[in-house]
Amino acid sequence: MSKVPITVAKGDGIGPEIMDACLHILTEAGADIEWEEIQVGEKVYLAGNAAGIEPGAWDSLRRTRVFYKAPITTPQGGGYKSLNVTTRKNLGLYANVRPCVAYNPFVRTKHPGMDIVIVRENEEDLYAGIEHRQTDDVYQCLKLITRPGSEKIVRYAFEYARQNNRKKVTAFTKDNIMKMTDGLFHKVFDEIAKEYPDIQNEHWIVDIGAAKMADTPEAFDVIVLPNLYGDILSDVAAQIAGSVGLAGSANIGQVAAMFEAIHGSAPRRAGQNLANPSGLLLGGVMMLVHIGQPEVAERVHNAWLRTLEDGVHTYDIFQEGISKVKVGTREFAQAVVERLGQKPNSLKAATYSSGRSTLMGTGYTQRPAAQKETIGVDVFLHWRESDPNKLGAELSAAANGDGVKLYFISNRGQKVWPGGLPETFCVDHWRCRFFAEQQGAPINHGQIIRLLERVSAAGYDFIKTENLCTFDGEKAFSVTGGE
Ligand code: NAD
Repeated sequence: MSKVPITVAKGDGIGPEIMDACLHILTEAGADIEWEEIQVGEKVYLAGNAAGIEPGAWDSLRRTRVFYKAPITTPQGGGYKSLNVTTRKNLGLYANVRPCVAYNPFVRTKHPGMDIVIVRENEEDLYAGIEHRQTDDVYQCLKLITRPGSEKIVRYAFEYARQNNRKKVTAFTKDNIMKMTDGLFHKVFDEIAKEYPDIQNEHWIVDIGAAKMADTPEAFDVIVLPNLYGDILSDVAAQIAGSVGLAGSANIGQVAAMFEAIHGSAPRRAGQNLANPSGLLLGGVMMLVHIGQPEVAERVHNAWLRTLEDGVHTYDIFQEGISKVKVGTREFAQAVVERLGQKPNSLKAATYSSGRSTLMGTGYTQRPAAQKETIGVDVFLHWRESDPNKLGAELSAAANGDGVKLYFISNRGQKVWPGGLPETFCVDHWRCRFFAEQQGAPINHGQIIRLLERVSAAGYDFIKTENLCTFDGEKAFSVTGGE
């Protein structure tokens, strides 16, 4: 059988040392891989490539579709793009999977029973990076939650749970406030959960869910989250497991995947044979499972657990009374190699069932188009005065007609006209909601364009519009505070 080709980047700082250590262990364990090395990171950035990756490297990644990446140093200062974000977006790596496990009593933790997997959506939410300054006072970042994105990540979380003998998947959202965006994520979660009756499911509001996770992580198993919550809480989870330096992560897409440690390049530790290769090694274990070599993954993982148990520790997890011998990167790797074939005595042994698919991703079938009707429009104004009653009266006089009418104005989501409270603090960003004169009746693009012409002719600076629609008769816009 031919070996599985993978693309390797040794990165910066401690990267080359820990990558060499990991490749040594994987090879000794019998991994059927052959790697081609690409250059990424600091050298590439400083040579003038703002993306931190040579253009030719994409050819290798497109060919192998498996990227084993050591941490890189991102130079400080503007102009440099995050290689992680570029790689995720270019390769469509929509799922970030981060197991966070306590290795009590061999690594100190406040949560000895912790064993959770964070599955973070990796491509959308506020990280779509669509931001605008709209007025003197107001900046906006668009939060995009999509049905395909939500379906893919939620299905991935349930598939992951099933394939890894996990019992429960929990979703965290803030859908009591963001009823449409987080509401969609929650709704998709409930829909897909029904397809997995063998796996428990539950939903928590993210604030109290995060508090519960930080306090009682044993209550959770797999947690699936939109991008921002996942970014924050996966670091919290790794840290409270007591082992931020020990966690690996997988970034999985439809056609490619990237495996790495969660820590950075630790430049101060570089070149001293000090760094702990464990996070990158566990990333490598996930890679072996992904490329269909679960037996090798199991051998490596169990030898590594046994090494921890035997008290062979690098400086970062060394503790008097628990550790037996302090070792460097190379010696640690050799200790793992010597234990290949062994299992841990008291820690839970890793088992990766054989013959399982590569977890490449989950398809999305486009739904039939809904019956969509436009029934109004929000016109956002940059207006530097402060009296909403004046704006309401003057804008109504200037803009009403042609079958459309101003119904209310809000400022930062709170209704301020008609009948607002004088105490409400207002900024220079006003949302003016127009419906048909007969509210609920459809309006057309021509009416919206002519409305904007009247608004502009009256001297108002409109900064954007949002159409107000119904989909299959259901209102597709949020209710405003005070409406
Ligand atoms: P870091 O994770 O590199 O290091 C923080 C500290 O943690 C180090 O000083 C070291 O004491 C310890 N540490 C981390 N990994 C260790 C290991 N394997 N063994 C032993 N000790 C370890 O974080 P940082 O110093 O904030 O970032 C350094 C550079 O890494 C920055 O340029 C940052 O942008 C980059 N970074 C890259 C990635 C990535 O490539 N995925 C991720 C995070 C940070």
